[in-house]
Amino acid sequence: MQEINNLWNIVLEKLELSVSNVSFVMWFKPLKVVDMTENSTLFLSTKSTFAKNQILKNYFDKLKSATADVFGENVEIEILDPAEEAQYIAKNKPKTATLDVEANKNPFNPKYTFNNYVVGKCNQTAYAAARAVAEKPGKTFNPLFIYGGVGLGKTHLLHAIGNYIREASPKLKIKYVTCEQFTNDYIESLGSASKTKTYSEFRDKYRSCDVLMVDDIQFISKKTSTQEEFFNTFNDLHQYGKQIIISSDRPPKEIETLEERLRSRFTMGLIQDLQSPDFETRVAILRKKCQIEKYSITDEALSYIADKIDSNVRELEGMLSKVCFLSNLIGKTTADLNDVKEAFDDKYEEKNEGGANADQIISAVCEYFDISHADIVGKKKSKDIVEPRMIAIYMISEMLELPLVTIGKIFGGRDHTTIMHARDKITDEMKHNRKTQTFVSEIKKMLTSG
Ligand code: ADP
Ligand code: MG
Repeated sequence: MQEINNLWNIVLEKLELSVSNVSFVMWFKPLKVVDMTENSTLFLSTKSTFAKNQILKNYFDKLKSATADVFGENVEIEILDPAEEAQYIAKNKPKTATLDVEANKNPFNPKYTFNNYVVGKCNQTAYAAARAVAEKPGKTFNPLFIYGGVGLGKTHLLHAIGNYIREASPKLKIKYVTCEQFTNDYIESLGSASKTKTYSEFRDKYRSCDVLMVDDIQFISKKTSTQEEFFNTFNDLHQYGKQIIISSDRPPKEIETLEERLRSRFTMGLIQDLQSPDFETRVAILRKKCQIEKYSITDEALSYIADKIDSNVRELEGMLSKVCFLSNLIGKTTADLNDVKEAFDDKYEEKNEGGANADQIISAVCEYFDISHADIVGKKKSKDIVEPRMIAIYMISEMLELPLVTIGKIFGGRDHTTIMHARDKITDEMKHNRKTQTFVSEIKKMLTSG
């Protein structure tokens, strides 16, 4: 079974290259191998009946041909929705091996490379510094501190360094974490009476690496004990010439309540900022994305997007993928200015809201994820219910601006802090998680199309 899963991963890699990122994340990535029978039928499970139907309707040919390339022409594919999956497993008891993808997974997004990074006036020095550090880790600027506003490419640069070093010096141990992960790891290592994750393990993990990257360090500002621990980690690594790379949404001097000694450590190496890209760079970034994601769009349409969105690259990309997704849906091969204008109008309408009420929002979410009303407001804690529930809470809070307590009542009398937690979690995911962004925008579309 492990072998089948490995082959399946190859199928996924092929699909990732042959379809748009949105389609991949929405439809193919969630597929799981349930079984492969002796007469070569591959059973795949989906997250919902909706997903199953979408795949059968729109993507089956692509799926079939990628699978045939890897498993051979004879393979048959059966797609199961969650209910069918449960039945299948009960009846056939396949030897499903849960595969350990986490263990040796590359933490770096393969698309976030130096090659895919567009260099302009706004980022040329940060780019040059990142390259220098990637080429000679520990030998040039240490630490390298990169800061800049949301969506300007900090994470991309960190991953590019990671991808570069992995390739050029595969023996070097690279540790990439967000500040949040570092904090959680540290706290867990302290609290674990169970001895599953001890402090010494934590120390080993962070002090045995050759390159340590901490993304979004600004979140360390209020956590004094984590600051202390990071200070010690920093000193240990630095002393042995290990490379440290840090990103932040602001320069060290503006991170409030940052201990002075840590602030001074951050300024020991090189501090570089990322500015918002100018028009030409924005156009170049959009072109690059088209090339990577295989989008087709007219020049005129591209310039329109670059003109309208002028600060955040993530938004720029989001608009591009939305436009191409929409034009694709109506069967066009190349997106044009009309599609762009429609997408912008849509954005405007989204802000105005189509007048949907909480019930309609909940119904749309239920329909989209193929779950029942009773479950979404009920007590179940399984992931396939919790995620839609949080999305519904987020959408109601964002679109209707109802008080948290009221939303709590709608969701079976939940506490307002629970509601707040769900809302904040999705708000955060909406900033960087393409899948969540797509869910929300598609559900909104269901609402406006009646
Ligand atoms: P940050 O971490 O600063 O919030 P990210 O690194 O996540 O921003 O970048 C947001 C998106 O914009 C990513 O998809 C990234 O690839 C893209 N991006 C940002 N800057 C550039 C650039 N100069 N060239 C190409 N893509 C970029
Ligand atoms: Mg980031």
